[in-house]
Amino acid sequence: MNDIHKYHMDTQCVHAGFKSEETGAVVTPIYQVSTFAFRDVNHGADLFAGKEEGYIYTRMANPTVQACERAVATLEGGFGGLGCGSGMAAIHTTFAALLRAGDHAVCSSVVYGPTQTLLANVMSRFGIESTCVDTSDLDAVKRAMRPNTKLVFVETPGNPVLSISDLAAVADIAHKGGAKVAVDNTFMSPVLQRPLSLGTDVVVHSMTKFLNGHADVVAGMIIVKTEDDYRAFRKILNQLGGVIDPFNSFLVSRGIKTLAIRMERHCASAEKVARHLEKHPKVSKVNYPWLESHPQHALAKRQMKGGGGVVSFELAGGIEAGKTLMNSVRLCTLAVSLGGVETLIEHPASMTHASMGAAARAKAGIPEGLVRISIGLEDAGEIIADLDQGLAAIRG
Ligand SMILES: *Cc1c(COP(=O)(O)O)cnc(C)c1O
Repeated sequence: MNDIHKYHMDTQCVHAGFKSEETGAVVTPIYQVSTFAFRDVNHGADLFAGKEEGYIYTRMANPTVQACERAVATLEGGFGGLGCGSGMAAIHTTFAALLRAGDHAVCSSVVYGPTQTLLANVMSRFGIESTCVDTSDLDAVKRAMRPNTKLVFVETPGNPVLSISDLAAVADIAHKGGAKVAVDNTFMSPVLQRPLSLGTDVVVHSMTKFLNGHADVVAGMIIVKTEDDYRAFRKILNQLGGVIDPFNSFLVSRGIKTLAIRMERHCASAEKVARHLEKHPKVSKVNYPWLESHPQHALAKRQMKGGGGVVSFELAGGIEAGKTLMNSVRLCTLAVSLGGVETLIEHPASMTHASMGAAARAKAGIPEGLVRISIGLEDAGEIIADLDQGLAAIRG
């Protein structure tokens, strides 16, 4: 479909990325192959020189991988997508493509733990400086900009307290300072938020989460706005080698077909859970962008199409109450990750955000007793009932 952009997001999710096959296959088959034969030596030479389109080697391009890349690029409204072996591979490739020794990056302080660790512990070894700031505070972003700042990396809603950064405003500040903006859109998916349409330059996804949606794949994607960036990123990804494989691309493409309808239910159920928890006597605070009590509720309503599938909350009883809840739930699964059909519950301070250390957690406003839930597709009443019986197990 050449005019796929004209269709509603629901329709795009079903059809984006697909190119008709000679066989008449209605989905792109799994091209489980590492290398592709050339017709003759000139054909091989032309493919390498880019004079002819075609396939050489799966690390460089593969039809099943391309179907997945086209799908996500279409949904995000980008020039092209680059499939990666994980969300972290997508983030690393983005850093490697946009930064060199002597450059500086600004990063959200409320961010997926390993993203911050990658900047602080790995990129720093290659001469790249970084500053973590609360990107929901525009003055803090302005203050963090330096003459050598080349990238502002934003996660919104930020994991795990779901603070919202104003993407259009951050893009404005970054561009005035000569930096590009990359957005981790994992928590929203393109169904709920399209950062490129708000003026940013690059989007990254952990497709492990909502895009695939079934807790059976680890994968990532980079979507870039311009052809120039696409070529530059492709070169870097070819050298770094952190690409997605055909089978996982197939699974993610299949997951994307139901993305819009899944997000609808994730959002509806998450809002019910958030509103219920907000009234619960053992819960001191609930973080969910669609609650009127969320500090950036108005911005969230402007920038996003839904509150998303993740809710976090603080227990009045602190860390001990959190442990009791973790050990008392029956329907909710005690596991990290998010965005799948199963409801998952976890404790950031001891799990996903443990690598940041207590000081960085305090700076990012992540309380030690915070609990994060990824609301799955089970019946919302039964998820709430399970949390209620788990909360009842907490003494006091
Ligand atoms: C999970 C996650 C990542 C990392 O993705 P992997 O696929 O696990 O490498 C990055 N950012 C966010 C917001 C995530 O939730």
